Amino acid sequence: MIRIAIIGGGISGLTAAFTLEEHRRAGAVEYTLYESSANLGGVLRTEHIQGCVVEAGPDSFITEKPWAADLSRTLGLGDQLIGSNDADRKTYILVRGRLIPMPDGLMFMVPTKILPTGFSPLFSWTTKLRMAQELFHPPRSAEADESVASLVERHYGAEMVDRLADPLLSGIYGGEAANLSVRAVLPRFAEMERTHGSLGRAMLAARKKMPRPANKPSPPLFTSLKNGMQQLAETLVPRLNQSSLITNTPVESLQPAAGGWTVEVYPEARRIGLKSDHFDAVILAVPTHAAAKLLAISSPELSTELAAIGYSSSITVGLGYDREFRQSLPPGFGFLVPRSEGKRLLAATFAHNKFSHRAPEDRALLRCFFAGSNAESIWQLSDDAIISVVRSELQEILGLRAAPLFARVYKWNSAMAQYGVGHLERLDRIERLRQQLPKLALAGNGYRGIGIPDCIRSGQEAAKLVLDA
Ligand SMILES: Cc1cc2nc3c(=O)[nH]c(=O)nc-3n(C[C@H](O)[C@H](O)[C@H](O)COP(=O)(O)OP(=O)(O)OC[C@H]3O[C@@H](n4cnc5c(N)ncnc54)[C@H](O)[C@@H]3O)c2cc1C
Repeated sequence: MIRIAIIGGGISGLTAAFTLEEHRRAGAVEYTLYESSANLGGVLRTEHIQGCVVEAGPDSFITEKPWAADLSRTLGLGDQLIGSNDADRKTYILVRGRLIPMPDGLMFMVPTKILPTGFSPLFSWTTKLRMAQELFHPPRSAEADESVASLVERHYGAEMVDRLADPLLSGIYGGEAANLSVRAVLPRFAEMERTHGSLGRAMLAARKKMPRPANKPSPPLFTSLKNGMQQLAETLVPRLNQSSLITNTPVESLQPAAGGWTVEVYPEARRIGLKSDHFDAVILAVPTHAAAKLLAISSPELSTELAAIGYSSSITVGLGYDREFRQSLPPGFGFLVPRSEGKRLLAATFAHNKFSHRAPEDRALLRCFFAGSNAESIWQLSDDAIISVVRSELQEILGLRAAPLFARVYKWNSAMAQYGVGHLERLDRIERLRQQLPKLALAGNGYRGIGIPDCIRSGQEAAKLVLDA
């Protein structure tokens, strides 16, 4: 019987446990999952307030990556999956205090339709000229990794970085385009530059190749669950062996011993001293900064590499409003705020429009987002003071003064991984160092994808890796 410790009870650790569960029932393995907080699910947290589904952490996942929807179906949640209302998809960018809709045909930040982009007030004539010239960009095989900002600026100029690349990436990574690795974050862009030169031409070529089945609507861009993302963790947890799940128990140390690992924890309430247990294999499903601390003694080199993966903190604020407010909002999914606008808010989602089942007809539900230095600038404020910041910026941007019916603030300390320039080379070094240790698997958002589908895949792969041992 192999004994496996899973450290971290977010969606990555829970998925690893779920993958092991079938083998546990067959009597092949035994696992123990340690979670430092009182709750399983990590950042997947949903509150139900006045009929609204308020997401404290993630609100959905990208449909294109299959692992989250597949897991939901395996758990019997197939009929609970909901797609974003893409027919109403319109996202605004704040430019000099005005909300300007993103033009039709922009694929991420690459323009693929001439007229809508040409007539859009989102870009200056200089940037529009750069877009036309970009179509003649020669193929280029970059020697080294670079930042997303650097690649986008080479193709379209600095305004494109400020108005689109940076706000779009802030919404996903909570980080800045100038600090994020193109190869890790937008590998398709690096590849398109290598093969086609022009990103615009490459996107058009890719679109032509895509099969378009007749009468079949394209899948929604985002998928969520009717009762919110916490529903995924809540459905998964009862499918695990309950006596294997230990909450309120942070792992304090991890030491190689007798071909496996000794895991030391303070039992709940810390009334007695450290308790240790021996395992044949360990799955570390915590943020890399937490993994770095646990491996500091057994592998200082691996610990240093893990600690070098940056994380940003974020704050989400959920606000519920009445019917009148809902009717006064512009149509669409919400807006993004470039840092050059000098606001603290980075994005606001009109959650009642993005998905059905999020709010009753007579309610509006807004989700406001702060990250990185913008979140740090208000981190120490009380919830009431943060809500005042949100209200005053919403008033400046939307011109709406109404008081919310409810407001909730959620703070996430160092929860979003930032894949810096050279991230993939760092992962290669991490992999080499990991192989020098007793059986150890790494899962979570610090490695090959920050979104929920990638975290689920990482949990499944981590479980398979220790099973194959
Ligand atoms: C505000 C926000 C919005 C997001 N929005 C989206 C979105 O819309 N779509 C999307 O796809 N992704 C989104 N993400 C990203 C995605 O939700 C996360 O990357 C993913 O859920 C991380 O899961 P995880 O299990 O790897 O980590 P976590 O959820 O961080 O779980 C790690 C767990 O490990 C525990 N832990 C840490 N140290 C120890 C220790 N020493 N011992 C025991 N336990 C420990 C922690 O308490 C935690 O529960 C968002 C993230 C945030 C923060």
